[in-house]
Amino acid sequence: MISAPVLDTRFRLSESVAVELAKIYGTPLYVVDEAHLRSRIRNYVSAFRNAYARSEISLASKANSTLALIKIAYQEGCCIDVASEGEFRAALAAGVPGNKCHLHGNNKQIEELEFALAHGIGHIVADSFEEIEVLNVLLNDEQRKSTLIVLRLAPGVDPVTHSKISTGQADTKFGFNIADGSAEKAAARCLELGFNLYGFHCHVGSQLLDPEAQRSGGELIAKFAIEMSERHGYKAKYLNVGGGLGVSYTSKDQPMGMDDYCRLIVQTVLGALEGSGIDSVLGQEPGRSLVGESGVTLYRVGVIKTVPSKTAGHRTYVAVDGGLSDNPRPALYGSKYTVERVAPCFGHESESRTVTVSGKHCETDKLFEDVELPSDIAVGDLLQVLCTGAYNSSMASNYNRYQRPATVLLRENGTHTIIQRRDSWEEMIARDIMPDDLT
Ligand code: PLP
Repeated sequence: MISAPVLDTRFRLSESVAVELAKIYGTPLYVVDEAHLRSRIRNYVSAFRNAYARSEISLASKANSTLALIKIAYQEGCCIDVASEGEFRAALAAGVPGNKCHLHGNNKQIEELEFALAHGIGHIVADSFEEIEVLNVLLNDEQRKSTLIVLRLAPGVDPVTHSKISTGQADTKFGFNIADGSAEKAAARCLELGFNLYGFHCHVGSQLLDPEAQRSGGELIAKFAIEMSERHGYKAKYLNVGGGLGVSYTSKDQPMGMDDYCRLIVQTVLGALEGSGIDSVLGQEPGRSLVGESGVTLYRVGVIKTVPSKTAGHRTYVAVDGGLSDNPRPALYGSKYTVERVAPCFGHESESRTVTVSGKHCETDKLFEDVELPSDIAVGDLLQVLCTGAYNSSMASNYNRYQRPATVLLRENGTHTIIQRRDSWEEMIARDIMPDDLT
């Protein structure tokens, strides 16, 4: 059987633009394409809306909280999901009204909740009994009526993904377990306290290529909503199935299309709710599937070294000028990426060979292990790593006191502009305070 050619939906730079950007802004460099990003977001928003008119997409801003990207998502019709006061501040700074944001977090600090309430957060996703009691103290009479509270539920679903991004199983720090009665207790307590309980939420995991876990999570929270209606006379106005739709880090990753995925979620949840009299808004809060494929990271090759290897006979390391500090995902999750040469210094495309692209940090960081690059790969060549728009700039650190890379936005009109600058050397030591007796 001939299988259909796989559609590659990822943004990639042309050689001329890559060379120009590297020359102007230096490397490593995150690059995001505005047209690609807007079209991803538009497609997702309209896929969900076409499947169900009363739907709402929020950008999980943990994936990328650069102000310009938050603003673009908002302009394209998204609300903004924030997981901390810092992310909420970023959304506000981007010009998003507080009531278009919602706040997550399994251990929200009192100050974070106070800040959220003071800035009119759209809704708070409560995650623990402690948080409910803190809210009971913080909410004044007016806020008790006006502040929407959503309960994060742990539906007890085990998705097929890396254990560190799997969150819907029973053994999780997030949310209220449905099966052991915690979720019902939490809902009853919110109603008893006179909270404006808006509905229920679950997020079962990330980078899911098989949608069964989200389908099952959606079904379970819908069934839970029916139980709350039958047992407590409470009708949920909002059900959110979280994020999690996968992206194509490599061509082996073939996530379900947005249209099919949204139809599946809507059919599942509405199917489960049928006849219950519950008529709720449906929410999703994707991160990587909105911003991941629109971004690439540009690196320059600095060293090439071939060494003996016990397993492979020999291994060629191609060292680039970034690494763990601008992309910790390979070290954290064993993530694989697509690496391409964009601008050869010498020669032209030749046969490929398997190499390991390493970073410049102090550990043996096999950044991108066993990738195919042209066999004439040379010092000075530019590499682009695809699908790095999500969880790269937002997870970057100053490890080894390297400056975090800048992010450049390729505008729809063909120009480019910097939207997050590289750390300055002054900033690298600005937080340090030398005690007087050590000066
Ligand atoms: N919502 C919640 C509560 C999350 O924890 C996450 C990711 O960790 C997301 C949404 C976004 O997930 P993804 O980027 O896989 O869509």
